[in-house]
Amino acid sequence: MRKYLIIGVQGSGKGTQAGLLAKAYDLVHINVGDIFRWHVQQHTKLGALVRRTMAAGELIGDEHVEKIVRDRLEQHDWNYGFIIDGFPRNRRQTEFFLESYDIDGVIHLDLPDDEVRRRVLARRLCPNCGMDYNLIYDRPAEEGICEVCGHELVRRADDTEEALSERLRTYNEKTNPILDLLRRKEYVFTVNAAQSVDEVQTSIREKLGLDF
Ligand code: AMP
Repeated sequence: MRKYLIIGVQGSGKGTQAGLLAKAYDLVHINVGDIFRWHVQQHTKLGALVRRTMAAGELIGDEHVEKIVRDRLEQHDWNYGFIIDGFPRNRRQTEFFLESYDIDGVIHLDLPDDEVRRRVLARRLCPNCGMDYNLIYDRPAEEGICEVCGHELVRRADDTEEALSERLRTYNEKTNPILDLLRRKEYVFTVNAAQSVDEVQTSIREKLGLDF
């Protein structure tokens, strides 16, 4: 059983790296931001509540986040383990998690703010099938059009310059300090996220001592 958290600023490639690791080692990939986006798309009660907070780049209330993580882990479909992406993001979430669960490692993806800006502002998403692109290194063949379903691509509502500045500020203020807390209790492995996708994945596996 392998239990990991992956923490990194927006655009550091958390989702991509967690997805690769999950696929290779049969882990359940829990993406808290995706679960919130699902609620917004499905117009659930929670979706209505979180829509504006997300669009402004602010954090959702801890009680909602904790419930989502707890409910997801209670499904117990993670026979080989899990990797949680986008959580914890502040001290309270960290303390909540460490009280209830033990983990084998925390992967910290490190990326400077100017590179975050460059990457995030180039992100595009297909609102129809969910495929994502990046105009720097993963452009669609036809500009602005999804290669999978032909729908027009959009920016995520929180990938604007304004929301990004807010998310960076929140990350530096609230999420960065929890790494110190996690360093004291758990293994934190910091990886340089400015490398290529493959290089980052290789560094993660080396640091976690995983076989290839
Ligand atoms: P992400 O896709 O991880 O960038 O998350 C998108 C948005 O979902 C964030 O800007 C927050 O509004 C919300 N969110 C995701 N994870 C958390 C969390 N652990 N705590 C609070 N809000 C979160």
